[in-house]
Amino acid sequence: MTVPHVVVVGAGFAGLDAVRRLVKQGCQVTLIDKRPYTTFQPLLYQVATGGLNPGDVTYSLRSLAAKYKKQVRFRRATVFGIDYDKKEVITGLGDPVPYDYLILAVGVEPGFFGVPGTDELANTTYTRPDSLVTRDLVFTGLEGITVDPEHDLSIVVVGGGATGVEMAGALAEMKILGIPSAYPELDPSRFNVHLVEGTSSLLGPFAPKLRDYAHLALVKQGVQVHLGHNVDRIEQDQVVLKNDKVIPAHLVIWCAGVSGHKEVADWGVPQGRGGRIEIDEFCRVRGRENVYAIGDCAVNPDNPLPQLAQPAKQMGKYVPKHIEATIAGQTIEPFSYLDLGTMATISRNAAVVEVGKIQLTGFVAWLTWVVLHLALLLGGRNRLQAMINLGVRYIVYPHNAQSIVGEVSDQPRWRRYLRKRVLGKGIPDPDAEADADPNGVQGVQLSEGSKEVKEA
Ligand SMILES: Cc1cc2nc3c(=O)[nH]c(=O)nc-3n(C[C@H](O)[C@H](O)[C@H](O)COP(=O)(O)OP(=O)(O)OC[C@H]3O[C@@H](n4cnc5c(N)ncnc54)[C@H](O)[C@@H]3O)c2cc1C
Repeated sequence: MTVPHVVVVGAGFAGLDAVRRLVKQGCQVTLIDKRPYTTFQPLLYQVATGGLNPGDVTYSLRSLAAKYKKQVRFRRATVFGIDYDKKEVITGLGDPVPYDYLILAVGVEPGFFGVPGTDELANTTYTRPDSLVTRDLVFTGLEGITVDPEHDLSIVVVGGGATGVEMAGALAEMKILGIPSAYPELDPSRFNVHLVEGTSSLLGPFAPKLRDYAHLALVKQGVQVHLGHNVDRIEQDQVVLKNDKVIPAHLVIWCAGVSGHKEVADWGVPQGRGGRIEIDEFCRVRGRENVYAIGDCAVNPDNPLPQLAQPAKQMGKYVPKHIEATIAGQTIEPFSYLDLGTMATISRNAAVVEVGKIQLTGFVAWLTWVVLHLALLLGGRNRLQAMINLGVRYIVYPHNAQSIVGEVSDQPRWRRYLRKRVLGKGIPDPDAEADADPNGVQGVQLSEGSKEVKEA
């Protein structure tokens, strides 16, 4: 029997679990991803707040492929299309990749839902570059207000799901523990954290008791929680809610939802709500032969699942079994999701865990969250590094806030930088901007004479 060649597009939770299972089944696999690494998204908020290094939450896909070198080849490329007649995947780099079976596991991207101002002014923590930009902007703001007594810093986190709650909690920890230790000249009350949620409670999918716990824990740490009104628009220095309430905002961190990647619209696949690829009960793309979609990017309209790591991993394990059965001319049971529970952390010693009827809060929940997240990280080195860095954050932080800092812009221009969304580009180089700006060198106003000299 010839060995099937399976192409897996996307090396997240779903794609990698599929690859591991396909290897066990003896398949030849080509793994394609637009990035040379896989990202552990649940800990990106720690990168964005200086708790973890970007390398702690990412793992080289070439190293991963090298482990299975007889069976797995990695191709770093962005997929732009699929030729179903020729059974080939078209990428932005190199020849088309032929397949016997194709698994699409490309995840999703932040969804701004057309809210005015988001494209230019909202930052995210969805990818490693996004999180680094957000981190640099947070620290630029902090450095900015230490020398600019005229302005306070106001950060608005939009979205009261697990991602928004974790982000707001980490920022609150900076306010009450990090600032007094690392910025003794700064009054922490000048660092304001707002959390905006359109529905009437935080952490919607959790039990009411856990939602209330999370809300109270954030409020106790000084987060200003705004419930019941969606964001209408983001403007320079402010967020305007649907009820016309205005919240000052030098930095907006958007954690309010996701949607399918735009390029998927060109792939000739049926798309449902939120741009997710429609699949049947066996995770097969509707209307396409030998093509599957799994994880966040996929939805069975008759049984939609949450866009979380567990459904993605379970689909990743299931689809290779379906391929094996198809080749053997057998049938297997449709995919069924086993709910292993959900959790969210708020800050040190504060988290919520819900597994069936079991509901945990406080230190036990927080410890469960830490252990599980470390266990799920890929690679022993990453686990060790993350353990050390989280240990530093949780044990040393109150005495010496050793944050992992990146680039900050020069003052007093900090407010201008915070208004920009500079996705994937990092903080703009202040020197380059100064050259381009005849009115200022690193924020210093030039005299008329100097201006002429510069222009000459
Ligand atoms: C900040 C944040 C916090 C989260 N916290 C939690 C949590 O605490 N618990 C939880 O269960 N879930 C959490 N999630 C959700 C969880 O991370 C996702 O459900 C999970 O990553 C989905 O896995 P996936 O394999 O479907 O997609 P992803 O992990 O997103 O992987 C998709 C891969 O496809 C690649 N790709 C995309 N487009 C292309 C293309 N055109 N060509 C080639 N490659 C492409 C990407 O580079 C990426 O590597 C969080 C998500 C975020 C963003």
